[in-house]
Amino acid sequence: MSEVTIIGLGEMGSALAGAMVRAGRDVTVWNRTGAKAEGLVQDGARLAASVAAAVGASPVIVICVSDYAATRRVLEGSQVVAALAGRTVVQLSTGTPQEARDTEAWIRGQGADYVDGAILAWPSQIGGAATTILASGDEAVFRRHEALLTTLAGNFTYLGAPVGLAAALFSAVLSYLAGRWIGICHGALICEAEGISVASFGGMLGDLSGILGEDARNMGRIIETGRYGNPESTLKTAGEDIGRLVQQAGEAGINAELPRFAAGLFRRAIDAGHGAEEHAALIKVLRSAA
Ligand code: NAP
Repeated sequence: MSEVTIIGLGEMGSALAGAMVRAGRDVTVWNRTGAKAEGLVQDGARLAASVAAAVGASPVIVICVSDYAATRRVLEGSQVVAALAGRTVVQLSTGTPQEARDTEAWIRGQGADYVDGAILAWPSQIGGAATTILASGDEAVFRRHEALLTTLAGNFTYLGAPVGLAAALFSAVLSYLAGRWIGICHGALICEAEGISVASFGGMLGDLSGILGEDARNMGRIIETGRYGNPESTLKTAGEDIGRLVQQAGEAGINAELPRFAAGLFRRAIDAGHGAEEHAALIKVLRSAA
């Protein structure tokens, strides 16, 4: 028996397996495209001949493939299912909370334990002391394997028993990142149009990360408590500033999709009477069906 099996050796799975091997763990690996295992085998991992052999090789099976549907396709062969009983499956593919719940039920149905995880890191950060991976599911199962799992991320954070928690929080973070990535790209268009270094723009955002983080904490508190009154800056002020991005895009001749979308949402919130509230009151528009 090895200590841990890693199934899926794409960008992320290879990083997970590499961190385990570097930490001196006894690791079995399997990937649909076997050639991706070559470097890991040279470094000391064992390559299983089949998924069933990979599952049978270790008490803990970490799976990181494209999505939960791929996880199911990999694990549902009859020989694999037979090998699952008594094992713990740690799912590190990205999915939705409902997929996590369905997968937990299916894995338990095969007589195995289950931890659902969500990786808040790039592959190059795997194995780092500050790297975060979220986990949810049965606490006793998580604690039994916690020491092994922290090899992958020093900050392997247990969120609670409802198995959808990790996927839910990951989805919420991804939603934030989606807006942020589009925002950075549009900001870069503005910089390019005005001859400003985009790298220095990125660096400036990095320098502002403390202030931007405080805005996130503040918005979270306000939305949870519903206290939108007494704002330092009103939704109306923010909305009018964002409306000027549409004007600026027209003047510079650059794409205006993001400014138009954002200005439209803020305009709806102002028209609905929320202009004198905190900008977090935008959620009142989003809560109603579009
Ligand atoms: P990737 O490089 O595209 O690798 C995908 C992996 O899934 C490969 O091992 C691939 O096998 C396997 N796979 C896909 N469909 C399969 C199937 N039907 N049967 C068997 N194997 C299948 O993707 P990745 O970057 O490693 O991402 C893997 C997961 O980690 C995703 O859910 C992703 O959201 C999550 N994640 C990634 C990052 C990141 O920065 N990369 C960050 C956070 C979370 P083959 O090699 O044979 O194609």
